[in-house]
Amino acid sequence: MIKIKSLREIELLRKSGELIYKTHQLLKEYIKPGVSTKQLDEIAENFILSSGAVPGFKGYNDFPATLCTSINEVVVHGIPSAKEILKSGDIISIDIGCIFNGYYGDSAWTYAVGEVSEDAMQLMEITKKSLYEAIKIVKPGIAIGDIGAKIIEVVKPYKYAIVEDFTGHGIGTNLHEDPAIPNFGIAGKGIKLKEGMVICIEPMITNGKKNVRILRDNWTTVTSDKSLACHYEHMVAVTKDGFTILSDGSTSGAGA
Ligand code: MG
Ligand code: MG
Repeated sequence: MIKIKSLREIELLRKSGELIYKTHQLLKEYIKPGVSTKQLDEIAENFILSSGAVPGFKGYNDFPATLCTSINEVVVHGIPSAKEILKSGDIISIDIGCIFNGYYGDSAWTYAVGEVSEDAMQLMEITKKSLYEAIKIVKPGIAIGDIGAKIIEVVKPYKYAIVEDFTGHGIGTNLHEDPAIPNFGIAGKGIKLKEGMVICIEPMITNGKKNVRILRDNWTTVTSDKSLACHYEHMVAVTKDGFTILSDGSTSGAGA
């Protein structure tokens, strides 16, 4: 069931999104060679708790941490560890969730550690572009398939693949609500967006093949061919005329 949010609820979701944005800004300063993903997790957890919220992923289906820290071939759901030390040339996607006043925040970003290859830079740039190009078309009346079709259109000129095993989703008082938002699709297909829907769009793109496998910890998801993976995610509310991004630190409607 798709829950349409009131303006009041959208503002509450924006508060949650803002807290996630601020957590990303804080973590950015610490993403350097020599830092462990466990340290990043502690910094994020302390910040979220001290802001009056609670981590949104910790305990969700028994996930053990505040952050998902996914390095290089890890696509999503990497578990922070004191043994995992960032090194120059890595790319790390950090996915953060929180619950603030009963509403979830959820946003992911991929960061370069030190100097990274041109290949990695381009993968990051194109994945980010696919997210923003998909967000730009959001308005009442477009189909879910239009979002996936736009992501395909941006990624297509490159030798990249779209991971199909995970999707974006609605968000509200639950982390994952209807509808699912696949990162691939056919223009015009699927249900139509309506004013008041709040969705997470989150393309996961690799510079190899789309196949993934889950490691024995039951979480860490890696590309089967060890290719690099990138992941960006924003929370987006469908407004009367377009969209507003809730997790990019903007305090008013930025939508067209
Ligand atoms: Mg999400
Ligand atoms: Mg996420």
